[in-house]
Amino acid sequence: MQFHLNGFKPGNYQVPDAARKPYPNPPIEDLPSEVDVLIIGTGPAGLTMARQMSEFSDIKTCIVDMEPGPLLFGRADGISCRTIEIMEAFNSSEMVVKETYQLKQNTFWEPDEANPKNIKRTEKIADARAGLSEFSHGIVNQARLHELLIDGMANSITNLRPHYSRALVDMDIDDGLTQDLDAYPITATFKRTDEAGADKVETVKARFIVGSDGARSRVRKSLGISLEGDSANKAWGVMDILLNTDFPDIRVKSFIQSKDHGAVMTIPREGGYLCRFYVELDLIDKNTRASDIDVTEQDLIAKAQKIFHPYTLDVKEVAWWSIYSVGQRIAERFDNRPVGSPDDIIPRAFVAGDACHTHSPKGGWGLNTSLPDTFNLGWKMASVLQGRSDPKLLSTYSTERRKVAQQLIDADKELSKLVATRPTTGDASEQAKIDTAEIEAFMKRQSGFVSGTSIEYFPSYICTGQENQHLAAGYKIGQRFHSAEATRVADGRSQHLGHLVKADGRWRIFLFGGSQDPTQTSSAAYQLIDFLANSASSPVNKYTSKGSDIDSVIDTYAVFQQRDLSMHDLHGYLWPGKGKYGLRDYEKVFHAQEGNDVYDLRGIDRSSGCVAIVRPDQHVASILPVSAHVELSRFFDVFMIEQP
Ligand SMILES: Cc1cc2nc3c(=O)[nH]c(=O)nc-3n(C[C@H](O)[C@H](O)[C@H](O)COP(=O)(O)OP(=O)(O)OC[C@H]3O[C@@H](n4cnc5c(N)ncnc54)[C@H](O)[C@@H]3O)c2cc1C
Repeated sequence: MQFHLNGFKPGNYQVPDAARKPYPNPPIEDLPSEVDVLIIGTGPAGLTMARQMSEFSDIKTCIVDMEPGPLLFGRADGISCRTIEIMEAFNSSEMVVKETYQLKQNTFWEPDEANPKNIKRTEKIADARAGLSEFSHGIVNQARLHELLIDGMANSITNLRPHYSRALVDMDIDDGLTQDLDAYPITATFKRTDEAGADKVETVKARFIVGSDGARSRVRKSLGISLEGDSANKAWGVMDILLNTDFPDIRVKSFIQSKDHGAVMTIPREGGYLCRFYVELDLIDKNTRASDIDVTEQDLIAKAQKIFHPYTLDVKEVAWWSIYSVGQRIAERFDNRPVGSPDDIIPRAFVAGDACHTHSPKGGWGLNTSLPDTFNLGWKMASVLQGRSDPKLLSTYSTERRKVAQQLIDADKELSKLVATRPTTGDASEQAKIDTAEIEAFMKRQSGFVSGTSIEYFPSYICTGQENQHLAAGYKIGQRFHSAEATRVADGRSQHLGHLVKADGRWRIFLFGGSQDPTQTSSAAYQLIDFLANSASSPVNKYTSKGSDIDSVIDTYAVFQQRDLSMHDLHGYLWPGKGKYGLRDYEKVFHAQEGNDVYDLRGIDRSSGCVAIVRPDQHVASILPVSAHVELSRFFDVFMIEQP
């Protein structure tokens, strides 16, 4: 898709340039006085939380931002493979894939040894992330990702819409109420930020609050959560521009280092014409805000032109620009409980995204770490509010995501040193040359982390069964369920198994059958299915309330090696009757594909098969032998609440 030919136009890229208009600011409606979940901030973290909560008609959610309407320009633009996988869980990946610039190559430019005033390409390499996911790393306006989440909320069963022009000014937690799950211990006070509502104050009572309110988070400050780490500031000028140039790699991501004028990182953008430039600026004082630096967009262009010598840059339009500088910092805790609290103390306030971790823009991790923060929290919150899980589940958010944030800070420190020609700390003796080989090695080594696909949660009661990992080496316990295709038995359609795991709060059990014929009642696969369907200790029977569809809490899929199966020969639990007419569901059974065999791709034991339990956020929770009925029940018994 091509767009922005005659100037940058924000909005829905499905609408042609000439007709596209930015979304108007929505009308202002009163805030509700009482909600289950109050979300502060409509960045990627807040919107992902809201998008997840919008799926549940019995949960009342409110999301608020101090801006007058949705974001239109700028900020992050890199959408990692894992983020697109998450968008697929919200049924919105196609649009992201169609609209993004898909990153396939990187180039490196250095001073030409023969004439150091000029730059010269030293390398052009394939992007290290290729093949880690069925999706590629994409580049698109952060605002467009927001729109997809906002549209999804509006089209959901709750018809959820953000409230704008409200700044959170105060937040109070009644400590006497925090351990009563039904109570509303949070009182949040908002001030209107629009002219018409100036000084109007509103209060909202909430059972839970999520502070996804950015790096200067008011929620984090109210909770007295301190930030740990280095606030030393390396400043970068960032601009989205429409330009003509004779630089040959303008449509490839490029690191460009000049001899005397610093470095530029260029990232081609969606639509074929737009390009983002990160221009290296000097180290700034810890107490200086980026907004106080006296640099204009013209200064950034002039600096970039010097770095690009002998190539020319003819900038036609600056769509957005900013000076961006952040220290590498992490919040000491991600919820309101004191550090070291036991897991059974119920947390009622959370911080997510930039509110609890900040770092440089170089790795493109801001959005891509913020969004999965709340993808981790959302299903847990829903499950607790719906009375399906013990509230202790909520404390796993902080443990799981803080570890990821710490890895992010460490990786960012390493990358920052590699892509800066000027010091990144006060130590002026630091390197003054980009070592492209080292950047390349870093990208290879960290490709799984950079793409988000190797993010792995600690062993815990929701990441267990490490002793069975050998049964499916390619489904790493704690990492996301790596999608692969299989053929649907009922209709022969090829289906990505990972795309079956939607963001609807349900758990998935994937049974990978062994060598035995699954239609035989003596086979391990048949017996497992029969256990799930009929045993009183089956988690499906214990945790699904009477009258609900059999797959409404735990959704079971089966994949077999045998290719000549017929649905009607298989156990009826695999094609259950559902809904008010009891219509049979024919979309739960698959067979492996020749030449693209999921058993080979994921190292599944062909003889015994295995069971993979997949969490609602797509992470592998456990691998079990097919015969491990007791262990399967025990897994869910640790945290789920039996339903009447
Ligand atoms: C100016 C700027 C430039 C950036 N440039 C880049 C870049 O070039 N590359 C890159 O990778 N990343 C960039 N980022 C970072 C990236 O956008 C973030 O990492 C990502 O958006 C984090 O998402 P988030 O949801 O945690 O927070 P944010 O996206 O920051 O969203 C926080 C939201 O909370 C709202 N809010 C804050 N306080 C209150 C309050 N008291 N009451 C109500 N609402 C409130 C804000 O208006 C905002 O909408 C930039 C961020 C900023 C702010």
